[in-house]
Amino acid sequence: MKYLKDNNYYTITLTNLYEYLMNNTPIPRKSVVITFDDGYDNNYTTMFPVLKKYKFKATIFVISSLIDVHSNMLTSKQLIEMDKYGVDIESHTAHHDNLKLISKDNQLKTLIQSKKYLEKTLNKKINFFAYPYGGYNKNAIEALKEAGYKMAFTTKNGWSSKKNGIFSLHRVWISASDSTKVFERKVSKPKKNIFESFSF
Ligand SMILES: [Zn+2]
Repeated sequence: MKYLKDNNYYTITLTNLYEYLMNNTPIPRKSVVITFDDGYDNNYTTMFPVLKKYKFKATIFVISSLIDVHSNMLTSKQLIEMDKYGVDIESHTAHHDNLKLISKDNQLKTLIQSKKYLEKTLNKKINFFAYPYGGYNKNAIEALKEAGYKMAFTTKNGWSSKKNGIFSLHRVWISASDSTKVFERKVSKPKKNIFESFSF
């Protein structure tokens, strides 16, 4: 985060990215979107204070069925506080489902369940989604559209580009063990990231 601040990067929201990709709405040249998957409680205890320190925006894709249930995951109270501050909370399914492995009916079920829960909890519209395990297929993209989502992210490594499809955008994976030098390369040289694809 300090590197991004010191080097004049500008954190935009997923709505900014969506408007840029779909309608060419201008964004600053050095724009980044910061995303976190799953919704671990350290997003509140560790990451949130750092975001506030640098006045950065970010998005957390949360697993809705674990909220207020699992002790290592964010609570609804924490989500509401962060969302009010401007940390965008979006969907990562209800149960961390691998959409590639389930029927379209079940894809729809988990997509709608998590969207409804988050919309009720946060009193806002949920538009964006990240695939658990990066798992998706043609049905999953159709199910996302039917459930009312507007844009989705895979775990494929690379910069987000419309040519990959608005429901299968790439991201650059940042590891906790990346040195500043590796981080710098990842945010400044998109093509050099390709060999670093990952899966879990
Ligand atoms: Zn996940």
